Amino acid sequence: MTVWDALVGQDSVVSTLTAAARAAALVTTQGPLAAARAGMTHSWLFTGPAGSGLAVAARAFAAALLCENSPPGCGQCPGCHTVLSDTAADLRTVRPEGLSIGVRDVRALIRDAASAPSAGRWRILLIDDADRFTDSAANALLKALEEPAERAVFLLCAPSVDDVLPTIRSRCRSVALRLPSVDDVTAALVREGVDEGLARMVAQASQGHVGQARRLAADPQARARREAVLRLPSRLNRVGDCLAAAADLVDAANADAQAANADRDEAETEALKTALGVGATSAGTRSTSARGGARAGAKPKSIQVRGAAGALKELERTQKSRGRRTVLDSLDRALVDLAGLYRDVLAHQLRAGVAPVHPDHAEAIERLAATATPEQTLRRWEAVLATRQTLADNPGLVPQLTTESLALALRDA
Ligand SMILES: [Zn+2]
Repeated sequence: MTVWDALVGQDSVVSTLTAAARAAALVTTQGPLAAARAGMTHSWLFTGPAGSGLAVAARAFAAALLCENSPPGCGQCPGCHTVLSDTAADLRTVRPEGLSIGVRDVRALIRDAASAPSAGRWRILLIDDADRFTDSAANALLKALEEPAERAVFLLCAPSVDDVLPTIRSRCRSVALRLPSVDDVTAALVREGVDEGLARMVAQASQGHVGQARRLAADPQARARREAVLRLPSRLNRVGDCLAAAADLVDAANADAQAANADRDEAETEALKTALGVGATSAGTRSTSARGGARAGAKPKSIQVRGAAGALKELERTQKSRGRRTVLDSLDRALVDLAGLYRDVLAHQLRAGVAPVHPDHAEAIERLAATATPEQTLRRWEAVLATRQTLADNPGLVPQLTTESLALALRDA
């Protein structure tokens, strides 16, 4: 398995990145200038729709840059392995825990970029969601991109080039990923050991979103939540039904977020408490104190406790913000499923002959098609898309109110 195998349906991207990684390898024998002349670049902007594998592509490239073999990206050497297992000393990742990336995160990143690689050839700074910089963070980053440290490589990921400030994107070499086809995703899942029938169903249902397809294939509860979302249009008879359906939609998103974050939140809190030496239950603190010896520079207890309370509060804030982001992401996925359903209904009404998004819901689609005009279906489809946009533009909105007005709009269309 090479590092590129995880990328689905992106052949031209793989050849671009492999060539760049080959050029980058020249830095060891001939220096940074030779690498640059051969086609290596310090700043990269990876773009592509959600699910196209942006993060996967950026990580594969990071691995290839630190790979010790040729062709780069073997997937076997320590360079590749440490990147893929997220333990590479020369890779620093910034991903927004909350709704945006602040200037503090970017300053830390830039300080890191200035230091020499500790093990590999390059110091790699990977920024997920580069569309979520605050203005001051974007300006700080811009300075670093204008005068990059000799061995620093910045990898930025964003949905599209339009989501990144023109000043930033003009400093970057662009790598555009496309949404893989249903066949590409099916074949990838089958290679990963998923039964062919299930692979095709989830590939269709996730509309080219590879991560979502993998999740649906692996998690029966995720499939159950999708079922519940797709049953929603059949439940909207009275106002009370609409409100209940809206509440269910938000509850499912909350459950999704809870499932995704609960373990991580608890582990982080526990680790921080252990590090701070407050109320920890793990063996970590016991073993340090058992070794005896007062630690040099130990602070008076009152300061320690106050500092610890602040740090825990900060962590709680981060976790809350991340939780909210996950709820919104999950709600967005539900709305994509719902939009796909109305698209199928409209295609059925117009006998468009296109492949359905939800072939496993043919019966419900027929029923909905028989009880509405194409104009109504179109209005419903548009209402779902408009709700997605509203939530994306106003992350501070109360999801419940937004989904309630959607449910009512679907009923009254
Ligand atoms: Zn390797």
